[in-house]
Amino acid sequence: MSRVYNFSAGPAVLPEEVLKEAADEMLDYKGSGMSVMEMSHRSKVFDEIIKDAEADIRKLMNIPDNYKVLFLQGGASQQFAAIPMNLMKNKKAGYIVTGQWAKKAFQEAKMYGEAVELASSADETFSYIPDCSDLPITDDMDYVYICENNTIYGTKFKTLPNTKGKDLVADVSSCFLSEPVDVSKYAVIYGGVQKNVGPAGMVIVIIREDLIRDDVLEGTPTMLKYKTQADNDSLYNTPPCYTIYICGKVFKWLLKNGGLEAMKDLNEKKAKILYDYLDSSKLFKGTVRKEDRSLMNVPFVTGNEELDAKFVKEATAAGFVNLKGHRTVGGMRASIYNAMPIEGVEKLVEFMKKFEEENA
Ligand SMILES: *Cc1c(COP(=O)(O)O)cnc(C)c1O
Repeated sequence: MSRVYNFSAGPAVLPEEVLKEAADEMLDYKGSGMSVMEMSHRSKVFDEIIKDAEADIRKLMNIPDNYKVLFLQGGASQQFAAIPMNLMKNKKAGYIVTGQWAKKAFQEAKMYGEAVELASSADETFSYIPDCSDLPITDDMDYVYICENNTIYGTKFKTLPNTKGKDLVADVSSCFLSEPVDVSKYAVIYGGVQKNVGPAGMVIVIIREDLIRDDVLEGTPTMLKYKTQADNDSLYNTPPCYTIYICGKVFKWLLKNGGLEAMKDLNEKKAKILYDYLDSSKLFKGTVRKEDRSLMNVPFVTGNEELDAKFVKEATAAGFVNLKGHRTVGGMRASIYNAMPIEGVEKLVEFMKKFEEENA
């Protein structure tokens, strides 16, 4: 068996320890005589799995009691519609457009009400986070929406926007569980788990209880009502059982390794190794404003498309895979999520140095 260093933006690398544990339990989960894939979502043994998962993410993120945790299908993209459908009481909300995922959410919201662009960094290909200290937020807005870490462009909100008292909704797909957060500053935090948490197929929604209502937008499908999901503890229909099980294992792995404080330290160390090299390199350059750099997704270029392609090809052959940048931006991108070991980043930088020497 040989494992590569996988820099994919998602689905992405998972902790090896978690994969091994899952392999050990594949045929017989804790004496049940079956795999978690084969068991009823209403069984006692699965009930324990989902309850444990919820308790552990609550512990990890220190989630206050007046927030619900929902394990839902449809990915992060489904939430682009679910959020306006459930939260647009006044049919008006403000969106900060810092990349393609924020833009998609903004465009989707326009189908359900008045979505207002409060700020954007489109003018410089989303290479920075706009100043959000005094946005044109009006009293009738139901919420302010951000994509906290921009997976494709590699920027991150280092401070949350001033929402002038309005509820904040954040897509945290690519920075989920990468550092401690103060949940009480948000009305809704949600993320697809396939970036930094688990296998594809699920989005976790953390939502303040008073926002879970019956009077949602007319025509909202039963499955998309947060109330349906909250009333049924995410078991209204068959949930993504195996994904919940693996996420639960990742939560335990995080708790065992010092929780989100320890993850933040490690993620800062890892990112610094890569950014320091990019800042000193004569060949490779980072593409975003320094103060807005993401700890999770690190885009870079040589400035020459042919050389970029050569780098990606040689890196792949050397066991550093999925370094090609997003199809819309080109260049390279290294996603260095929680489960990417520090050696992976150190070895990548060694490889980049060697490539720089050879191609000077
Ligand atoms: C990947 C990603 C999405 C889309 O996730 P799906 O689960 O595929 O719908 C949305 N937002 C962000 C920030 C992402 O990184």
